Amino acid sequence: PDDQPPPDPSKKTLVVLGTGWGSVSLLKKLDTENYNVVVVSPRNYFLFTPLLPSCTVGTIEHRSIMEPIRNFLRHKKAAVKYYEAEATKIDYEKRVIYINDDSEIKGDVSATEVPFDMLVIGVGAENATFGIPGVTEHGLFLKEVGDAQRIRNRIMDCCETATFKDQSPEEIKRLLHMVVVGGGPTGVEFAGELQDFFNSDLKKWLPEIKDTFKVTLVEALPNVLPMFSKQLIEYTEKTFKEETITIRTKTMVKKVTDKYIEAESAGPDGKKIVEQIPYGLLVWATGNALRPIVKDFINQIPAQKDSRRGLAVNEYLVVKGCENVWAVGDCAVANYAPTAQVASQEGAWLARMFNQMAKTHEIEAELAELSVKQETAPGKDARDVVFADIKDLQKRLRRVKQIGPFEYTHQGSLAYIGSEKAVADIAWWSGNIASGGTLTYLFWRSAYISMCFSTRNRILVCVDWVKSKVFGRDVSRV
Ligand code: FAD
Ligand code: NAD
Repeated sequence: PDDQPPPDPSKKTLVVLGTGWGSVSLLKKLDTENYNVVVVSPRNYFLFTPLLPSCTVGTIEHRSIMEPIRNFLRHKKAAVKYYEAEATKIDYEKRVIYINDDSEIKGDVSATEVPFDMLVIGVGAENATFGIPGVTEHGLFLKEVGDAQRIRNRIMDCCETATFKDQSPEEIKRLLHMVVVGGGPTGVEFAGELQDFFNSDLKKWLPEIKDTFKVTLVEALPNVLPMFSKQLIEYTEKTFKEETITIRTKTMVKKVTDKYIEAESAGPDGKKIVEQIPYGLLVWATGNALRPIVKDFINQIPAQKDSRRGLAVNEYLVVKGCENVWAVGDCAVANYAPTAQVASQEGAWLARMFNQMAKTHEIEAELAELSVKQETAPGKDARDVVFADIKDLQKRLRRVKQIGPFEYTHQGSLAYIGSEKAVADIAWWSGNIASGGTLTYLFWRSAYISMCFSTRNRILVCVDWVKSKVFGRDVSRV
């Protein structure tokens, strides 16, 4: 039995899946008094992903970029129900979601269903592996807090194992070879952070590794950061060279074993070369893939049969082929890149739309009441008064109903590239400003601080920056 009041039968039940960028920005702006709001997510916090690469080396501690969902939901006008669970299946015909408590502690009930009238899918994406053998078993991803913790521990484990008594020079070289696959922003930012960690801390604490530690970034395309302008790509590649990070472009990883990756590239004569590259740490950052729940949903809806990268949505973010089902963020395909910027704008737009929809219903109900009143009003004067009210309400209704389709405003792309430098392609009036360097890094820091979820997060991140600068990053392995 629930200790909370039962859902209000006069309101529709709005179920929101996920507590990431899309869902949380929706919940932030949503007037929860209009609906019975239910949130389902296995993660009971919001994660500020742009600063996650900094957590892999301890520049920032992970809890500083997490905001408990309970903390934020309790400030909403009307109570919101939250279930820490994974949605395993959406049954569109029956209008129910099947949910599963996947955590360690389970009660008598750990699987049940939640009915919905309206549904927002904001479950994000999984890590793409393209079915390359060995990736899941041996590679580490960088998407969630647990991933960042695993990477942080693995880096230190490699360093400590490399300094183990009687280790052979070959093995030391392998253990200290840090390989990052994927030259998108995740791979680039991580490689930059890792090299920073080595330059400012590891070298000091473990001087014996200083000539062997090496970071290599492997990218299948001809350059890294394809979404940035040419000038910034060149700047990044030049900075990496100065930082002694090796970039291997036009190199496609085809297989992964516990000790080496197998990569294919073209030799100077254009012939295919396959080489085995030994590694100690392998971070796999090759982008997004569909989550199983999204795949399953796509298979249920005939109109989605051609959807490959996510749920196809229309300009109102409605999942094509469905009614009262919307999708936001990385699980939706609306012709925008899968970024936090897009997800949060979509979530905020949807909240505004839901708020307007509730207002529309309210006005329509009032109008229905007034038209009855008008018919029964005694005398012409009374009827005229009601008629004037109806006119006013109709005008209001037209205004409220005027909500245009979702339009994304690109504010620019930002990425940290290590040694206190960042690159930025910022949309400015009708043009673009491309800049890279230390000033851009200061801009990067201030932009991300201002975007943090809460004041609490902002303070914690600033404290972490000062702490790691003054005392160095913590090299303990837990
Ligand atoms: P997410 O934020 O991933 O949230 C998905 C939510 O759904 C999570 O709460 C998850 O627990 C939950 N969930 C998963 N499965 C289920 C299920 N079955 N049932 C219910 N809930 C479920 N973008 C930028 O614009 N700028 C950046 O600087 C930037 N930096 C990034 C750095 C890193 C390291 C990474 C990995 C990504 C970065 N991104 C950045 C991309 C950005 O994080 C994503 O585009 C964004 O998180 C997408 O938001 P979302 O709400 O779709 O998904
Ligand atoms: P991505 O899709 O941007 O890049 C993945 C890269 O991996 C591609 O360049 C691809 O060519 C390469 N690749 C794929 N398979 C490979 C293989 N077998 N061998 C070698 N290379 C291979 O992925 P991401 O960096 O994880 O980013 C995901 C999304 O999140 C993007 O939309 C990105 O814009 C966003 N993001 C943004 C920021 C930021 O703005 N600072 C930071 C992180 C992520």
